[in-house]
Amino acid sequence: MIVAANWKMNPDLATGSRLVMEYAASKYPTITRVLFAPHPYLVPVGVRLQDSGIILGAQDCHAKDDGAHTGDVAAHMLASCGAQMVLLGHSERRSDHHESNAEIQAKARTALAAGLDIMICIGEQESDREQGIAIDVVTAQLVGSLPDDVPAARLTIAYEPVWAIGTGKVAGVDDISEIHDTIREMLVQRGLAGVSILYGGSVKPDNAAAIFAIDNVGGALVGGASLDAEQFASICHAASISAE
Ligand code: PEP
Repeated sequence: MIVAANWKMNPDLATGSRLVMEYAASKYPTITRVLFAPHPYLVPVGVRLQDSGIILGAQDCHAKDDGAHTGDVAAHMLASCGAQMVLLGHSERRSDHHESNAEIQAKARTALAAGLDIMICIGEQESDREQGIAIDVVTAQLVGSLPDDVPAARLTIAYEPVWAIGTGKVAGVDDISEIHDTIREMLVQRGLAGVSILYGGSVKPDNAAAIFAIDNVGGALVGGASLDAEQFASICHAASISAE
């Protein structure tokens, strides 16, 4: 079980520092926790995470190693600031920055070469689900975003229906199950059997246990609820129970 916090562009540094101390005060030895922090916070937050067991991650990287890309951040820079993982292809990157599957795949290659593990996000729009093409969209994103030779131990997938992110709407158990089973089959076919598949989209303390009970759900990517230490702890607790 992996529970990952995605702060997005939210807390200021003082708030983030307090939050991370609160995260680090609780221990969940049977699960893995990850924090995707904003780039400027990697170093100060990383210092506070030392010995906490929480993995430090970044929220994006550039597809190129170096060069004239003002305002962008290279994967090796993130690694040198202490990040061990990077989140790629989040739906907000796909929509705000028009990131294509090919670009996400290129970022994934660069991140792996820089020594970062990768978490790749995939998920359909509400209109895709209404048209009955959610599975086609998600499988196309998976095929298009995954690099050919990614080692299973360095990859995590997050299935996040776009319409469930930050909206309070959660996908139904059967829908989550169908998509996660399909992703699992595809990963197995590619020799990536052990990869965790997280669910993301309005995961909260009151729905986490039910989501973690679904086959092939290996944890959660948590946005809004990760900004409240108590809510995040409660989701981690649910994951710990499910991991027993
Ligand atoms: C996310 O940030 O990926 C996310 C799922 O956000 P939220 O939990 O707020 O829906």
